[in-house]
Amino acid sequence: MSVSVCLFTADLRLHDNPVLRAALRSAERVVPLFVLDEGVHAAGFDAPNRRAFLADCLAGLDAGLRERGGRLVLRSGEAVAEVCAVADRYGAREVHVAAGSSAYAQRREERLGAALARRGRTLRVHDAVVTVVPPGAQVPQGKDHFAVFTPYFRRWRGTAARKPLAAPRSVPVPADIGPPDLPGRAGIAGVSPGLATGGEDEARRRVTSWLRTSLDAYADRNSDLAADATSRLSPHLHFGTLSATELVHRAGLGHPANPGAEAFVRQLAWRDFHQQVLAARPQAAHTDYRPRHDRWRHDDAEAQAWRDGRTGYPVIDAAMRQLRHEGWMPGRARMLTASFLTKTLYLDWRVGARHFLDLLVDGDVANNQLNWQWTAGTGTDTRPNRVLNPTAQARRHDPRGDYVRRWVPELAGLEGAAVHEPWKLPPRERARYDYPAPLVELPAALARFTDARGLG
Ligand code: FAD
Repeated sequence: MSVSVCLFTADLRLHDNPVLRAALRSAERVVPLFVLDEGVHAAGFDAPNRRAFLADCLAGLDAGLRERGGRLVLRSGEAVAEVCAVADRYGAREVHVAAGSSAYAQRREERLGAALARRGRTLRVHDAVVTVVPPGAQVPQGKDHFAVFTPYFRRWRGTAARKPLAAPRSVPVPADIGPPDLPGRAGIAGVSPGLATGGEDEARRRVTSWLRTSLDAYADRNSDLAADATSRLSPHLHFGTLSATELVHRAGLGHPANPGAEAFVRQLAWRDFHQQVLAARPQAAHTDYRPRHDRWRHDDAEAQAWRDGRTGYPVIDAAMRQLRHEGWMPGRARMLTASFLTKTLYLDWRVGARHFLDLLVDGDVANNQLNWQWTAGTGTDTRPNRVLNPTAQARRHDPRGDYVRRWVPELAGLEGAAVHEPWKLPPRERARYDYPAPLVELPAALARFTDARGLG
């Protein structure tokens, strides 16, 4: 009886999973394997929110496999050693896995390939599983990646996305696979109280209802903070309980006649864009992609006020409190808070990126680090010195102030857009609100940034 291992990583799904399909084609039995990787733990990457969401995903994956006659094999430890041990145990000729783009994933692939080869086994790495277009598949002439989004998007649009695959009807596994010791959410300390539920069933429910009710209005409403009108699919894309390729197809491949679909698919292309930058420049996870010779300020008290949602700028504080409560915030809120930290406070983007990674359920090296760099102006933004004014942005993207009142209850007594500028209240009235004064004055902060970047 021939056996292959299907190693699940960022593709915790049965629908549209080319890795699983290839493993099933290559042998009579498949060992569906997930390794709780101690390397991920050592890197501080298994933050509580992601660990809890992952627990849901693994339970869902095991349930889906069971419905098809299979079972999930769960191991924890050093990934390469664990995969080799499982391959040895079942005599697997091949191990199938999705290609990753981070430095860590690339190294793990190399080490795993070499270790399996020493045992006479083969690692098969599959592209276009995590992304729609694989990193490196489209490059400008003479370069190894696109450094600017717009030309990348043009090329990306012209690349035919592969057809999504149905979930397999059955997953035959070796007879002696017993029930996995699934981690479960209970007992994980520090999980955000409003954290979303993970798992493939939940992802499929959400995508079906969101596409039906909200896709058409996406272009108009994706920056409306109070509307909460974006898809909230990012954690599912991060863990791969939903395939980006399937999502692009279901959104009509971004039909130009539907501005909502067009804008949504463009956002999915941003995800691929960052993956191809990171795959080509893995060091961009930690070092400036385009150095601006910044000499960032160090101010622990200001950084902490930002983390705690106590900066005195209500829209910033609302967003930071949502992050803590849900482990998630909308894209517009991420841009505002990141711009505030890096340009208004002029603190190092790595300080903010670390905090986001500690809390975001979708926290992802490519998307987090490179969006932080984009906002800080050290990344791929073609206007690296733009500064987002938090008050002007609040008036624009939360015109009635509902988003701020939702997350900053101590200001709930302030009506309409007045909630964005509590410092304008007469002193006696202002004293009634237990809310801090602004951490910095905006004109002075802008002058400091302009000076630091040598733009004066
Ligand atoms: P929607 O607006 O519904 O968009 C659909 C999908 O498109 C998202 O789920 C996401 O996969 C992709 N997408 C949207 N915007 C971007 C973008 N700017 N870059 C890459 N992909 C995008 N996204 C993450 O998945 N993980 C992160 O760790 C992360 N960190 C970020 C940090 C900062 C400072 C900023 C500015 C953005 C970050 N983003 C990150 C990108 C983006 O904000 C989120 O993907 C999005 O807000 C998730 O909400 P949604 O699923 O409702 O998005």
